[in-house]
Amino acid sequence: MEFNTKVIHGGQEHDQSTGAVMPPIYQTSTYAQTSPGEHKGYEYSRTGNPTRTALENALASIENGNFGLAFASGLASIDAVMKLLEPGDEVISTNDLYGGTFRLFSTIFKKFGIKFHFIGMERAGNIEQYINDKTRIIWVETPTNPMLNIIDIKKCAEIAKKNDLTLVVDNTFATPYLQCPLDLGADIVMHSATKYLGGHSDVVMGALVVRNKELADKLYYIQNASGAVCGPMDSFLVLRGIKTLHVRMQRHCENGRAVANYLKKHPKIENVYWPGFENHPNHEIARAQMKDFGGMLSFAIKGNKKADAIRVLESLKVFTLAESLGGVESLSGHPASMTHASIPKEEREKTGVTDSLIRLSVGIESEKDLIRDLENALQKV
Ligand SMILES: *Cc1c(COP(=O)(O)O)cnc(C)c1O
Repeated sequence: MEFNTKVIHGGQEHDQSTGAVMPPIYQTSTYAQTSPGEHKGYEYSRTGNPTRTALENALASIENGNFGLAFASGLASIDAVMKLLEPGDEVISTNDLYGGTFRLFSTIFKKFGIKFHFIGMERAGNIEQYINDKTRIIWVETPTNPMLNIIDIKKCAEIAKKNDLTLVVDNTFATPYLQCPLDLGADIVMHSATKYLGGHSDVVMGALVVRNKELADKLYYIQNASGAVCGPMDSFLVLRGIKTLHVRMQRHCENGRAVANYLKKHPKIENVYWPGFENHPNHEIARAQMKDFGGMLSFAIKGNKKADAIRVLESLKVFTLAESLGGVESLSGHPASMTHASIPKEEREKTGVTDSLIRLSVGIESEKDLIRDLENALQKV
């Protein structure tokens, strides 16, 4: 089945009892048993719920995996992966990482004796010097946030395989429309389904997809034992979102390209970070592993004044100033004072998160209105 068909039909069947085309929202915590232990596959909704099952099957299908797991948030899904580890184990992670992931690793799991190495992975060869007999996981996020660096998943997978490590890829920014990490050799794909998979800024959810049965069983055990599952209503919303993922992503990519090209020519802009530019440092890898370049981009205003960035953000009318990304509506953000506020100025400037850097999640509105909105706002500086 092609991707555009899978998003609608993959792993799905019509409701057995009524023929309902969409799975009902099974708003129930428990299920009647005919005799102790005799039931129809569902006992208790932490362990399993039919609406969640429908979503988990869809997730597995679109990521070319065998097993999907849905969680209460992206971070809950990351938390479950980390619970595969024992005290003393080590993780090698991308340094330009989603802030919440960094916080979970460096303040929660560090406390339980897990050691993290946060490193630049744009050259995958960098990874090997950090591997020792305690290393268990390589954690990759690509494209990265907010600098839109690209990491070579295939190369990371080769290194992981050679050293018997688990490769996890946070596929939130790209989605399986653009790249399928399992096909490139990753062991676990992780999503904040809050973003593009849900796609409508109306739900918080996380997901994991794997191929290996043994790994899936361990993760299902953790999911049930720790309990950070999502509810049936949210499962329904994300399943509905996935059905339009391909058309939304196509438009996100078109609009992203238009906005990136507009900003690149603007006299007040210093730098535009978007992997579709031929002079982007990882453009060739992006071309090889992604189908297109997505709707996320960042740009810095000349002179690097925070006041200029704030004036632009306050002046935008179609772009909403807000955390998050991946919804149909365009969003703008100021990494230095929002997502990356907790990182010291010197540290963040090293990775490119300067005071005038603005991050855009380009939505699926009319391209003309988005560019007009940016034009107006940039006139204010
Ligand atoms: C939002 C996000 C997360 C965390 O997901 P939540 O659903 O907010 O818990 C993790 N990784 C990336 C890349 C994200 O954008």
